[in-house]
Amino acid sequence: MNPFNPPITARDFPEDFKHENGNYYCKCSYCLQEFRGHKRRVVCKQCTEFGKYLKELSENIVENPYPLSADKIWELL
Ligand SMILES: [Zn+2]
Repeated sequence: MNPFNPPITARDFPEDFKHENGNYYCKCSYCLQEFRGHKRRVVCKQCTEFGKYLKELSENIVENPYPLSADKIWELL
């Protein structure tokens, strides 16, 4: 492994790397793991995607007159 070019993980934002200040090591405020992206980012990509997913899920629950039970949500995760 080249230490100057570590592999991109699911937490990183490779689309930021080409920008100025876009290849910083940041610490995610949710999972507390390091990730690479713009220096102003505070949440890693994995948690961002997970947040979007939870938001969609909660919107579905609001619209659905027969909401998913908590057991069902854990099955989906
Ligand atoms: Zn995270």
